Amino acid sequence: MTEVLVVGAGPVGLALAADLRARGVDVEIVDRRDAVGGGTRAIGIHSPALTLLEASGATDGIRSRAVRIGRGEARADGRVVAAIRFDRLRARHPYVAALPQSDTLEVLTALAPPVRRGVDVVALHEDRAGVRAVTAAGGEWRAGAVVVASGWSGRGLVYRPGAIRTRHYRDRYAMADVEAAGGPVARVHLERGGVVESFPLPDGRRRLVAWAGAAEIADADVFLRDAVASRAGIEVEVAGASTFGVRRAVAPALRRGRIVVVGDAAHEVSPIGGQGMNLGLLDALTLAPLLAPWVRTGDDAGLATWERDRLASARHAARLALLNTLLGRAAAPSAHHARTTALRALLRGPGGAAFTRAYAMRFDRAARGT
Ligand SMILES: Cc1cc2nc3c(=O)[nH]c(=O)nc-3n(C[C@H](O)[C@H](O)[C@H](O)COP(=O)(O)OP(=O)(O)OC[C@H]3O[C@@H](n4cnc5c(N)ncnc54)[C@H](O)[C@@H]3O)c2cc1C
Repeated sequence: MTEVLVVGAGPVGLALAADLRARGVDVEIVDRRDAVGGGTRAIGIHSPALTLLEASGATDGIRSRAVRIGRGEARADGRVVAAIRFDRLRARHPYVAALPQSDTLEVLTALAPPVRRGVDVVALHEDRAGVRAVTAAGGEWRAGAVVVASGWSGRGLVYRPGAIRTRHYRDRYAMADVEAAGGPVARVHLERGGVVESFPLPDGRRRLVAWAGAAEIADADVFLRDAVASRAGIEVEVAGASTFGVRRAVAPALRRGRIVVVGDAAHEVSPIGGQGMNLGLLDALTLAPLLAPWVRTGDDAGLATWERDRLASARHAARLALLNTLLGRAAAPSAHHARTTALRALLRGPGGAAFTRAYAMRFDRAARGT
């Protein structure tokens, strides 16, 4: 019987497995996919997660591949409304490390135990000896504890249908990673037609995102190319654009007996704001040091506090992400003017420092000492 079984080899499950392995815990990780999932989603990793990833050795690998974003700009009508200075944060890593999610997965995969692929866990049963994980192929895995890191699609392993209140928002976005100039500065263009985000990536590329409202997007490449040009003056070739929507959900609990839930399986926040993966990494990396004593001696000191802190952090991130989503909607000229004026006043005063800290996840309870 393995000490800990991790279900799901997304960034959160891999980070947990790599950290547990570095701590000498007997850990196995399984994923139902036969190969690493394609496409890129999360690109920005903030200081708290970078600091906690040091224990497994992942931070160096991430930093060597990433662009370091020290500065952000909120822009409107072709002008800078306010600058956001990550490089002035009192943090161990005063920047956002930006890299494709596939690179993050590669770094973590090299440090985690080998992922057992094609293993689809369909049920978890707890008994006195531990937890029995049943697979779609009829196999079984036994472990002292199971951590569910299965993302949104796997939450049925733990929660009853309807147990997590989920809000679906009408906002849709087009997104692509393209070759574009712009330097290591993150730019958020809050324009009348809707937000355009432009974030640096390695190798002279940028992540472009444009709000599309509730309308169906017939051709994401054409929509994104035209939206970034007309709203933000960014002239680029776009190929391979995708679209995404916004859900908001935070589970009522993260633990049932010897089964614990982390990452998107427990909470989903709007991708506008870029904190979902970071939130999950912080769940996993603050859980890791509590797991070994728990499975070995039954000492679960700290788990209740961990659960309370992680749920509070998830609710906070969900609220912030929603605010970002609302700010990024199209606005009539008068509302756009009022929004720009209010943001300028807020971000250029002491509110600017608070906003930077919130965006960089300095208010997450796991950020203490990072
Ligand atoms: C467009 C977009 C952009 C984003 N940008 C950012 C960003 O910049 N920064 C940020 O912090 N976040 C961002 N996010 C959010 C981020 O992508 C997610 O929060 C993150 O991927 C969640 O990781 P996870 O490991 O919890 O889940 P997942 O990445 O969903 O991984 C779960 C894994 O579990 C496996 N699995 C599922 N069910 C089972 C089962 N029953 N048995 C075995 N395996 C199973 C799946 O195959 C999958 O590999 C973005 C999201 C989107 C959509």
